[in-house]
Amino acid sequence: QLRLRSALALVTGAGSGIGRAVSARLAREGAAVAACDLDEAAARDTVRLLGGPAREEGAPGGKHAAFQADVSQAAAARRLLEQVQACFSRPPSVVVSCAGITRDEFLLQMSENDWDKVLAVNLKGIFLITQAAAQALVSSGCHGSIINISSIVGKVGNIGQTNYAASKAGVIGLTQTAARELGRHGIRCNSVLPGFITTPMTQKMPQKVQDKVTGIIPMGHMGDPEDVADVVAFLASGDSGYITGTSVEVTGGLFM
Ligand code: NAD
Repeated sequence: QLRLRSALALVTGAGSGIGRAVSARLAREGAAVAACDLDEAAARDTVRLLGGPAREEGAPGGKHAAFQADVSQAAAARRLLEQVQACFSRPPSVVVSCAGITRDEFLLQMSENDWDKVLAVNLKGIFLITQAAAQALVSSGCHGSIINISSIVGKVGNIGQTNYAASKAGVIGLTQTAARELGRHGIRCNSVLPGFITTPMTQKMPQKVQDKVTGIIPMGHMGDPEDVADVVAFLASGDSGYITGTSVEVTGGLFM
């Protein structure tokens, strides 16, 4: 049974890792996918992976479409929602914010620039996308499910990631507050807290660190992007119809 047959899903950070796996999973559930990334070629590659002809603005036909946007820029986030609505003639009913970056450094050495950059993409970006998507849904009277990718690091911290941990903790609070404000409009908001997932983001960690991390995961291995995508698909679907404001950990048991 296709749980998202009539859904339009906007996925940011769709050009890589978790965002790409989420796009593929939601498409398999029947959703049309608007795949957005800072890297336009990567977003296009994701749409190609989903199969079928791409839908171009003004030339409907294909099911999925690629979009370029920097989610940390307010004008770009607003324009993205406008472009998606113009392309599909409706606002996205599922919105998954996966765009995120790391700029790791110990607290004692972290630059203001590394702090600002990570907060701009990981936290302000999610504020801008959540706000623009909610405005589009409320003004058209549509229900929706907004899913924001936080991290277990936002709950427990991580050495070398004051900026990242702060941004991810912020995502949890933002999402809970959005859930409180938007529930009456039929819009659910939940966050997902992945642990260590095999993607380009974690593959750039030194092998020694990867081995150390794996050693403390109760399930004994890092997760796959598909493990996160499965949970996102549940939160996007009616199977989670009475779940809002929660944060689901997908960690293989790390930091119970
Ligand atoms: P990734 O680096 O593979 O993918 C991130 C994508 O986001 C890239 O395609 C990148 O181009 C895009 N992006 C970056 N800045 C952007 C911007 N300003 N606007 C639009 N797109 C932008 O990373 P990933 O591991 O797939 O991570 C996806 C999300 O999951 C991130 O929010 C990350 O913090 C979170 N997360 C990842 C892990 C993990 O172990 N991989 C764990 C916890 C949380």
